[in-house]
Amino acid sequence: MVNYNALTCHKLKEMIDRQEVSSEEVINSVFDRIDKVESKIHAYISLFRDSALKEARVIDDRIKNGENVGRLSGIPVAVKDVMCTKGKLTTCGSRILKNYIPPFDATVVERIKKEGAIIIGKTNMDEFAMGSSTENSSFGYSRNPWALDHVTGGSSGGSAAALAADETILALGSDTGGSIRCPASFCSVVGLKPTYGLVSRYGLIAYANSLEQIGPLTKDVTDCALLLSIINGNDRCDSTSVPFQNRDYMNALVDDVRDFTLGVPREFFGEGTEETVEKCVWDAVHKFEDLGANYSEISMPHIVYSIPTYYLVAMSEASSNLARFDGVRYGFRAEKNNADWNVVFGITREKGFGSEVKRRIILGTFALSAGYYDKYYLKALKIRTLIKDDFEKALAKHSALITPTMPTPPFKIGEKIEDPLSMYMSDIDTVPINLAGVPSISIPCGFVNNLPVGVQIIGRLFDEETVLRIAYTYEQNSSLQRKKPNL
Ligand code: GLN
Repeated sequence: MVNYNALTCHKLKEMIDRQEVSSEEVINSVFDRIDKVESKIHAYISLFRDSALKEARVIDDRIKNGENVGRLSGIPVAVKDVMCTKGKLTTCGSRILKNYIPPFDATVVERIKKEGAIIIGKTNMDEFAMGSSTENSSFGYSRNPWALDHVTGGSSGGSAAALAADETILALGSDTGGSIRCPASFCSVVGLKPTYGLVSRYGLIAYANSLEQIGPLTKDVTDCALLLSIINGNDRCDSTSVPFQNRDYMNALVDDVRDFTLGVPREFFGEGTEETVEKCVWDAVHKFEDLGANYSEISMPHIVYSIPTYYLVAMSEASSNLARFDGVRYGFRAEKNNADWNVVFGITREKGFGSEVKRRIILGTFALSAGYYDKYYLKALKIRTLIKDDFEKALAKHSALITPTMPTPPFKIGEKIEDPLSMYMSDIDTVPINLAGVPSISIPCGFVNNLPVGVQIIGRLFDEETVLRIAYTYEQNSSLQRKKPNL
């Protein structure tokens, strides 16, 4: 029997269209897999077996009637629990939203549904997308399918783990400072953070608006281009979204990087980067050279300030965004008789938020307060501009930049969670990209002691095409995508 759950979307879609397999069979195959491995992985917060099967049967009937059912017809998709799904629990990994059922779909959710996608569940994540391991989830951590005592990465760890464990075909994640690329690297899947503004953020529960984007997590680069082609483009509900309607990225899938010029910025191989990771990434650079690209080592001097800059901006924005969770408007409320509203508000937030979220609200509020605003927040904004300039200069001379996605392979569960600073440091190679707003992809580039390593390809603003083309060329010339974890 074919394990349909282990296939890519583009392969399955062909089979569904030719009626070699029905969507119902695909959904059943994915849920059989979930029954088998989910108790080990914990990739999902909610699962929607009944509604998924029902939707699949409707799609199958429409296909039999010869109707055009869209580019994702009957394909199972796992959605990170930070995106609103109409009528379906959306927790954002937090106790404070443990009973929140949105009355609307996020724009990306609406767009994939329109193409016939079937949402099979909502995936686990760090609370409010704050973290790099999913250990900050209020609903327990996920486990890495390649090594069960290791983290999946985060914050979109559930989405990446579900793909790696073949518990879904496609997934969506969000990336404020690495949350798509970090778990993609740790779970050996593909993850793309689009250019800021390319994908609508409407219905994405906000953490730090000026940094984040929704993007695809997939089993290969072709699926990534396909999913991006569907979710991108203007949305009148998001004023920061691009003015153009929609772009198709399937033309980017060309196996050729001849004469591409690649920059390898040395600041991305700084302190804390494991030698084994460095070697995997350099092997990738040399592979590109063998395939006809040129590369040069470059310097981007302000990258070293990325971590403090990112955390100041992100925490400041978070402190303001999370003010809305007061127990009055959404979700959970701590009850206390005859208490003033501010007391109820305080207890609700004390009980509803986890410790990392509280830490960030406090630090962000501090950085924005009178007397400290100039010293911290404003200064961070100025350095952000310098970091942006570094990217502009580097990308003026190069088609793309190649760096590690993460400085290390996945770490052990429990290893960093008690030490927030060491957790923050692991974001060193991903946060600069969000500060600059440019696109970047993480694709698998090797294993170190059976633990996955990812390489990051960074492009010019709105040049997802080049990023995807370089990634595709690498993938076509490597056999990593065909490797599967033993579960
Ligand atoms: N690890 C980073 C943080 O904790 C990035 C998270 C994200 O991209 N949502 O803020």
